[in-house]
Amino acid sequence: MSHEIYRVGPGSEVDLTRHDPRDLALCAAGKREGRRLTGELNAELEALQELLWAEGWHKLLVVLQAMDTGGKDGTIRHVFDGTNPQGVKVASFKRPTAEELAHDYLWRVHRHAPGSGEIVIFNRSHYEDVLVVRVHELVPAATWSRRYDHINDFERRLADEGTTILKFFLHISKEEQRERLQARLAEPDKRWKFARGDLAERARWDDYRAAYEAVLSRTSTPWAPWYVVPADRKWYRNLVVSRVLVDTLKELDMRFPEAEVGLDDVVIE
Ligand code: AMP
Ligand code: MG
Repeated sequence: MSHEIYRVGPGSEVDLTRHDPRDLALCAAGKREGRRLTGELNAELEALQELLWAEGWHKLLVVLQAMDTGGKDGTIRHVFDGTNPQGVKVASFKRPTAEELAHDYLWRVHRHAPGSGEIVIFNRSHYEDVLVVRVHELVPAATWSRRYDHINDFERRLADEGTTILKFFLHISKEEQRERLQARLAEPDKRWKFARGDLAERARWDDYRAAYEAVLSRTSTPWAPWYVVPADRKWYRNLVVSRVLVDTLKELDMRFPEAEVGLDDVVIE
């Protein structure tokens, strides 16, 4: 079976209640085997990232979105472990500053798009502008409802200019979120991550789910597909994201640049 089972087909209507956050279809053998496979993929990703960097043409944009505690940070730490920090950047999008709010919502995003040879991971993204913004009615419905088309066009432009785009929705259950929030409260080293505001967001779980369903249904395109990643189990989430990244980078069929001619005769004294 391939990771394609998690890709959202363009134009399909997504009903998240029909996506099991505990699904293990790609690794029924369980955690041990899953971790072993992820380790192999990690080494492959390291090599592919070096190739991307050396080739210096393709650009890779990875978008991570999830409900609170969904595992965006953990995914970045585990999946990109060992890659070269020179070629891999993370852009985290928080509540917009006054300056950002004074501009259109894509203004702050575009400047973080990857350059040649780079991988950029968006920890949250322009999708917040149709998620939290929609749920909290931070702008009128007439405004956010136009944004799905803008976003598709924006991503199309990046893709046309050489950017490969992969978007992951880390799908956790409400029960799993309860456990993770509880753990943040209970463990001293995790308390700093607990924000009272997360409880208010949790109370709007169904509104967020509807907002995510709209995102997944309207913005999974041939040039920038969404993947719904079963994320209740961290090891499985890492495996699925790693698998998609490695398979996608392999398909780019990259080559190391041609070396200078005549190097065989070079003698280093
Ligand atoms: P965290 O990822 O926990 O550091 O939280 C970042 C916060 O910024 C989250 O509550 C997001 O919903 C919020 N945020 C990110 N982008 C936007 C946006 N465009 N408008 C409003 N809030 C945002
Ligand atoms: Mg948070």
